[in-house]
Amino acid sequence: MKRDLQNYYRDLRLKIRNADAQMFVAQLARKQEVNSAFFYDFVVNAEGKLMYVFWADATSRKNYKHFGSVVSFDSTYTTNQYDMIFAPFTGVNHHLQSVFFGAAFLLNEKTESYVWLFETFLKAMGGVAPTLIITDEATSIKNGIDEVFPTSVYRLCMWHIMEKLPEKLGLVIREESEFWKRMNACVWGSETVTEFELEWNSIISEYGLEDNEWLTKRFSLRESWIPAYFMDISLAGILRTTSRSESANSFFNRFIHRRLTFVEFWLRFETALECQRQEELIADNSSIHRTPQLVTPWAMEKQGSQVFTYEVFGKFQEQVISARDHCCVQGIAQDEGIKIVTFKTGASRVREVRCDTTTMIANCSCRLFESHGIPCRHIIQVMRIENQKKLPTFYIMERWKKRCKSESVYDEQGNLLEENPTDSLDAAARKKISTVRNKLEDLIQRAKQSDEGMDF
Ligand SMILES: [Zn+2]
Repeated sequence: MKRDLQNYYRDLRLKIRNADAQMFVAQLARKQEVNSAFFYDFVVNAEGKLMYVFWADATSRKNYKHFGSVVSFDSTYTTNQYDMIFAPFTGVNHHLQSVFFGAAFLLNEKTESYVWLFETFLKAMGGVAPTLIITDEATSIKNGIDEVFPTSVYRLCMWHIMEKLPEKLGLVIREESEFWKRMNACVWGSETVTEFELEWNSIISEYGLEDNEWLTKRFSLRESWIPAYFMDISLAGILRTTSRSESANSFFNRFIHRRLTFVEFWLRFETALECQRQEELIADNSSIHRTPQLVTPWAMEKQGSQVFTYEVFGKFQEQVISARDHCCVQGIAQDEGIKIVTFKTGASRVREVRCDTTTMIANCSCRLFESHGIPCRHIIQVMRIENQKKLPTFYIMERWKKRCKSESVYDEQGNLLEENPTDSLDAAARKKISTVRNKLEDLIQRAKQSDEGMDF
């Protein structure tokens, strides 16, 4: 009965009132006892109050090794009973699902809190910083990133900005559907900087928003949140999925937006995480056992169906079909070893592929491969013109492969990053194996310069 449940929670809260944070940290410690690949760290102040706590389990750390190049860090979730900020790190897996990398509770939003958090995160992830990190707009987060992840590309979450937009507008414009149509197309759909700037300025003047300070400020920050400005940044396009996508949102909504105690939080969190991982397993299973329907006689399409996960293959297949149906070559030119092929597209844009005919590495002005990691219709067409039956491996990103997670991953201490490690070696032996593995890797790096070296 609902009444019983309410009473149960009241009693639970009374019981844990003074020991809640301690129980939470003790729970993390227990997790580590069971599996040494479970990482956590925390700080208490002089009064014994919990300031910061961060954790990442073996699976999260393994996921980071596979998919951690692009990370979304979100600190906008409403807090727990103790007014602490819940701050999760997430990314996108090989099925384009949201994937959890680790999370923290922070007592405040000061720069030093973020510095502690990012340093701790780095420690958990073997010192490997993300290539790209997307966050919400806050000076203290930006400071923390500059200090701890100086080489990572930093961008703002476009979802957060667009979510705030309605409240920054007058009532009349807010209800204008034409305004939203144009604004969304301008922000999300602009392909070039010029296209974006022309359309933005035209919207601003048409709706008389020149004096809107908030919009003026967002325009001055445009390079850090408008996708047109980072089409060349590797995989930035998948951020549209990571940054507070529907799936990430519903995942976290199960245990935030509520004044929960730590103990209550943990119960919900673990269940939600289990569900997320279960969904990944289901997707793994169907990627391996389901044979997608092929629509062209091209070997490339078949190859794609064999290597890519079901979801990524779907995206790739769209490009293959489109290459077959709507990809008219306009002109072919040759500039030394570079073949330049132009295409006319429906939207009266011209696409240009420049292909090195020795390596078969090409880039296209639509930049689909750079931004989403999926070879575009134009590159596919050029490969066909060049009589390539198969896609060069360059275009098959490791992170989209069906079996990208099948290899065992270890951390610096030699812990196997699995939830239930069957590895019964003691710590010293594991450490030794890890050291040997690293040395062997160095050796291969040095030897690969020559055939002789590799034979030796
Ligand atoms: Zn293209």
